[in-house]
Amino acid sequence: MPLVVQKYGGSSLADAESIKRVARRIVDTRKAGNQVCVVVSAMGDTTDELLELADAVTPSAPERELDMLLTAGERMSMALVSMAIANLGDSAMSFTGSQAGVITDDVHGKARIIDVTPGRITEALADGHIVIVAGFQGVSQNTKEITTLGRGGSDTTAVALAAALDADVCEIYTDVDGIFTADPRIVPSAHKIDQISNEEMQEMAASGAKVLMLRCVEYARRFNLPIHVRSSFSYREGTWVHPAEGEEDVEAPIIAGVAHDRSEAKITVVGVKDTPGSAAAIFNLISAQQVNIDMIVQNVSAVATGRTDVSFTLPKTDGQRAVQALQDAKGDLGFESLQYDDQIGKVSLVGSGMRSHPGVSATLFQALADAGINIEMISTSEIRVSVVTKGDLLDDAVRAIHTAFGLDSADGEAVVYGGTGR
Ligand code: ASP
Ligand code: MG
Repeated sequence: MPLVVQKYGGSSLADAESIKRVARRIVDTRKAGNQVCVVVSAMGDTTDELLELADAVTPSAPERELDMLLTAGERMSMALVSMAIANLGDSAMSFTGSQAGVITDDVHGKARIIDVTPGRITEALADGHIVIVAGFQGVSQNTKEITTLGRGGSDTTAVALAAALDADVCEIYTDVDGIFTADPRIVPSAHKIDQISNEEMQEMAASGAKVLMLRCVEYARRFNLPIHVRSSFSYREGTWVHPAEGEEDVEAPIIAGVAHDRSEAKITVVGVKDTPGSAAAIFNLISAQQVNIDMIVQNVSAVATGRTDVSFTLPKTDGQRAVQALQDAKGDLGFESLQYDDQIGKVSLVGSGMRSHPGVSATLFQALADAGINIEMISTSEIRVSVVTKGDLLDDAVRAIHTAFGLDSADGEAVVYGGTGR
């Protein structure tokens, strides 16, 4: 019997009605002759609400307790979905991440899965049950503590389970019909992508496309697992993310899509001595704070002063910590001043066709120029060009680039069925 792993996101489980609707869909899949293992996210914006609650109680929640709190969101969903299935006369059993054998390292808030031992899942499936697993969580191998996998982590749970169970397909159900050439909330003329390579999807996810979590895409590539991203509100075929390596598809479009990211801030270290070791000292300090940086730009130093400016972007959530650490080390590092800007946005154009088509950057910069949008930073990979702009111009930048590359669809097919876009 084929084994299907399905994941339902928070917007597909927003209230009792949605839960009943999802339960029917799961039962239909089972009735069609499949074994079904389902991974669920927390209902609606529950995770954000729990975070706000914690924030209202204390400005600095202990990480362990925060994970205990957040994992409750997915546990509510798993129990409610199981009940709804039972109510339809089928039998379902729910399991926490730890019961499902999701073993992680011991980093609270962004744990990595190191092993999946799904013994209880295989047993329950063999006994004829539908299995519901709480996404986004696991248990640490060393500390035996409950961990969470980072925001959007249920996607990763689904792919990890699908790989461990050797599932035939991993379906990720969301509130749009698949992966779009841009966020339909910003670009209503975005169109659904039918097929995208895992490599392109990785760049999209890394550039802020929230439809799939980056780690889940990396995981799928490692295990050579295709993912089908589709809507739980329609029966349309969604987007297939192919793990395929090697041969370039000559028919594939040059550009896959435009991603954007509002989660970053920019720090400029002004007046850094332009001598060997200056950058190393700055970034050693930042890395000691466990902060992941994204773009880095260093200017040519002014001849008169022998000093230069170094700018980099990092998650807003780490901004204050990084600024403080730099400020504290100002004497040792010997820079002149610091600038911090958290009102920035990043727009990225992704497509494996860039490798063989010149002029992509020129078209992109021209589109921004025509829209009167100033470029603050640029970075590229082999198949991506990213630009930092002022935060309030980001939506315009996304639309301008989407249009410039001919990605607008005439029929306005982008439908956002649910969710608040949080
Ligand atoms: N509930 C978690 C979040 O909102 C995990 C997930 O939805 O995948 O980030
Ligand atoms: Mg969620």
